[in-house]
Amino acid sequence: MTPRRRAGGGLPALDRDVVACRACPRLVRWREEAAGRAPRRYSGETYWARPVPGFGDPEAGLLVVGLAPAAHGGNRTGRVFTGDSSGDFLFAALHRAGFASQALSRERDDGLSLRDCRIAAAARCAPPDNRPSPAEFDRCRPFLVREIAALPRLSVLLALGELAYGQTLRAWAEAGRGAVAPRPSFAHGARVLLPGGATLVASYHVSRQNTNTGRLTTAMFDAVLRDVRAAMGGARPGGRSAGPRRGPA
Ligand code: SF4
Repeated sequence: MTPRRRAGGGLPALDRDVVACRACPRLVRWREEAAGRAPRRYSGETYWARPVPGFGDPEAGLLVVGLAPAAHGGNRTGRVFTGDSSGDFLFAALHRAGFASQALSRERDDGLSLRDCRIAAAARCAPPDNRPSPAEFDRCRPFLVREIAALPRLSVLLALGELAYGQTLRAWAEAGRGAVAPRPSFAHGARVLLPGGATLVASYHVSRQNTNTGRLTTAMFDAVLRDVRAAMGGARPGGRSAGPRRGPA
């Protein structure tokens, strides 16, 4: 039985299973070889070079779903969206929106914590050209299904990019929460009410390609996070979506 086939045990067991996974030969090769292709600014660093587990608050109301770790970002640091330009953009925005304790996310032990928010990727290993294959997504999606199942207060899912959006809809259905039919098309800013009362919000990915070209601006993403906040309040009346909470995660 592969690690991804197991269930139960909550987030700690999930994270252990993710980190141990070697189910995709192409991605195992790629993630490990990346350490030998480190750009000069990272030369001498010890790469994580394993699947990257989710990160954040175990009682999160918000789950941010990215595409996959970057070869020299999460695959280097071992924390999702940490150590690359996409993470710089994402965590700064999460900090402005009150979900992150700090705007900078440079390494695993930099003190960053998330409040009411967890972040995971649709595929947990860095892929060539930032593009997992359909079969790789299929192999990895059970981890996202388990992530959804392990978050008891989940009320909003924010998908970054069309691929993550599609995987999130499939994972929601495979988690037994119900399918949305017909499948709503991806559009930046779209908001989909999922069976069971949660909300899926769609955004362009926070990739450097999108943020450098102005396809996704800071103002646009801040607006998405305001929408997320509104959806959290609406989907979970009396919840703690905007207020302070006990302890960091
Ligand atoms: S992409 Fe997912 S299923 Fe494939 S090896 Fe990585 S963690 Fe395992």
